Amino acid sequence: MIPVSKPSIGAEELKAIEPVFKSGWLGMGSVVKEFEDAVAAFVGGEPQSYVIAVNTGTTAMHIALSALGVGAGDEVIIPSLTFVATAQIVTATGATPVFCDIEEDTLNIDVNYLKKCITKKTKVIIPVHYRGFPCSMSAILNIARNNNIIVVEDAAHAFGSFYQGKKIGSFGDITCFSFDPIKTITCGEGGVVITRDKKIYESVVRKRILGIDKDTWSRYKNERSWSYDVIEQGYRYHMSNINAAIGLVQIKKFEQLNKRKINIAKRYDKEFAHIEGLSLLRTEYEDIGLFTYIVKVKNRRDELMVHLKEKGIGSGIHYIPVHHFTYYKNFMRNPLLKTDKVYEQILTLPLYSDMTDQETCLVVKEIQSFFDF
Ligand SMILES: *Cc1c(COP(=O)(O)O)cnc(C)c1O
Repeated sequence: MIPVSKPSIGAEELKAIEPVFKSGWLGMGSVVKEFEDAVAAFVGGEPQSYVIAVNTGTTAMHIALSALGVGAGDEVIIPSLTFVATAQIVTATGATPVFCDIEEDTLNIDVNYLKKCITKKTKVIIPVHYRGFPCSMSAILNIARNNNIIVVEDAAHAFGSFYQGKKIGSFGDITCFSFDPIKTITCGEGGVVITRDKKIYESVVRKRILGIDKDTWSRYKNERSWSYDVIEQGYRYHMSNINAAIGLVQIKKFEQLNKRKINIAKRYDKEFAHIEGLSLLRTEYEDIGLFTYIVKVKNRRDELMVHLKEKGIGSGIHYIPVHHFTYYKNFMRNPLLKTDKVYEQILTLPLYSDMTDQETCLVVKEIQSFFDF
């Protein structure tokens, strides 16, 4: 079976864990600090970005909202076409998610619709850079500035992507990345919060370890100090040295891993461009840390999925819109016509860095034969 995605990990990652085992310091320590520095160097930005490593992309976003003081009575605008994590972290704070419709050709938040979602209660906008293709950040940040709103980017798909020549994470208010097993690069599990605001940084650092003050710097030296104070609500969301060691290897491989995925995606584009029943999403491959390959299938999406499965090819639907879930139905406010429309059409095809040419050929061949092309 050819899977939809698969992490590209091997001997180097395994070797990187060994010194952590030998050190006996498995939890958050000096390797986490090294990983944060590596992410900061990778992302760049002026002034220097603060990077805080946590255990998942979900907790990165939760802690960011928590540091902003988001809670009951606040509204947070999110797309409905996203992984449910984007919505869960909003409801976890007690705030109300407000769903924004999307653009059909990029699956990213529709800026005109976004303007209509804003009320006096709007505290945060969470754009999702779908597949790694950046949202219209200039427009979104402008709207936010004019309305006293903070933008927290769900950049779980967009590690290594550029927007207008700048890396995602190097500008904007707060950016959260995920390093879960199937993301662009992985720590096993992991995530980071990035900000250039010192106050937010300090709060996120404390909240990462149960609101404990002053402990971080000694931890970074693999030392424990016995005296500390607790000054705010926190969580136990820190990254471990084991996960950081994996991430440090992966971050060095990013260019190579991404290049391979882009080559496969370009091949798909070329082969599928002339198939009547398919339509391609808009992508600019020079500037993208590519996460997934999604096509839109007219009318026969589910049939194609079954056909591929019979031929040993995995495919997926990313994602079921959040407003379709029982828990989130009550939050529906405005119609989400484009979200509902593309949900019937989207299909995620296999794409991972270790995918062979034979595997790529098989996917292409089976899709062509399905459409009698
Ligand atoms: C993966 C993902 C997340 C959550 O990241 P985890 O590290 O899996 O917790 C959030 N948002 C989107 C869009 C994602 O794809």
